[in-house]
Amino acid sequence: MPAEIIDGKAIAAELRAKIANESARIAGNTGRKPGLAVVLVGEDPASQVYVRNKHKAAIEAGFNSFETIFPADISEKSLISELNKLNDNSEVDGILVQLPLPAHISSDIVINTINPAKDVDGFHPLNSGKLFNGRRDGFLPCTPLGCLYLLKRTISKGLAGKNAVVIGRSNIVGKPMAALLLSEDCTVTITHSKTRNLAEITANADILVSATGKPEFVKKEWVKKGAVVIDVGINRVENKLKGDVDFKGACENASFITPVPGGVGPMTIACLMYNTLKAYCKINEIKLELEI
Ligand code: NAD
Repeated sequence: MPAEIIDGKAIAAELRAKIANESARIAGNTGRKPGLAVVLVGEDPASQVYVRNKHKAAIEAGFNSFETIFPADISEKSLISELNKLNDNSEVDGILVQLPLPAHISSDIVINTINPAKDVDGFHPLNSGKLFNGRRDGFLPCTPLGCLYLLKRTISKGLAGKNAVVIGRSNIVGKPMAALLLSEDCTVTITHSKTRNLAEITANADILVSATGKPEFVKKEWVKKGAVVIDVGINRVENKLKGDVDFKGACENASFITPVPGGVGPMTIACLMYNTLKAYCKINEIKLELEI
């Protein structure tokens, strides 16, 4: 039987509606909306689209959205000073700096500048440290959090004991994804560009998450019969978006699979809204009723 498609777009819309309801309830009591600042440096077209989508989603969630755009030649020092202004701005609960940054700016220094209490991307070392310590009181990176949400929705009997293989070891996707799967009691293997016999390793995966940025890299034979496949990759090929996975081939072996587009991408934005609401609630010492 061909794999069932995990409709990330619909699941994300449902989650965003819940976030909007919770945001309206809370803001009704406090008289102030949650605020998200999205910082864009330069004019990278893909980044511009991502920032626009985040702005739109923030407005739809009932948040204030502060779009902060700087020229590509802004100095690192000036950018840090601007970020410190956002750190000090009581209207701003969440700060996200759209990556990648121009080569003359260190993303490590920029990420370290963001107040960890407003780090809704979950990239600050304090938040990633909490994640790797199995703590849930920090911010979890949006894309892996969205993948986990999809997995929990899909695997109704729970994730404990499953063999999970993550392809990719970036700080943004691969590593935090592996940490989250471990915290769900999966047996986790992280693979990367130097991994040997990758196909043999993935063929044992009940859960396969791919985040390499290589179009149709994961072949049908690499996918175990009945596996759940989460395709994080976003690759532009001849003006079309493709995932990391040979979708058609993988559908023959997987039980469930995310499409590209319409799988993980919308979940990333929904989880950013969730993290912003979480930041707002923490700053205002309000209990967030919505847990994901
Ligand atoms: P990255 O370039 O930082 O990391 C890629 C990883 O893939 C590396 O760890 C590398 O070791 C691994 N890799 C490369 N070649 C490999 C090979 N031959 N075998 C095994 N592993 C290999 O990229 P990233 O930021 O982690 O993003 C990965 C993909 O996910 C990209 O396509 C990106 O656009 C996409 N992405 C999507 C979302 C979303 O919301 N859907 C969010 C973030 C990233």
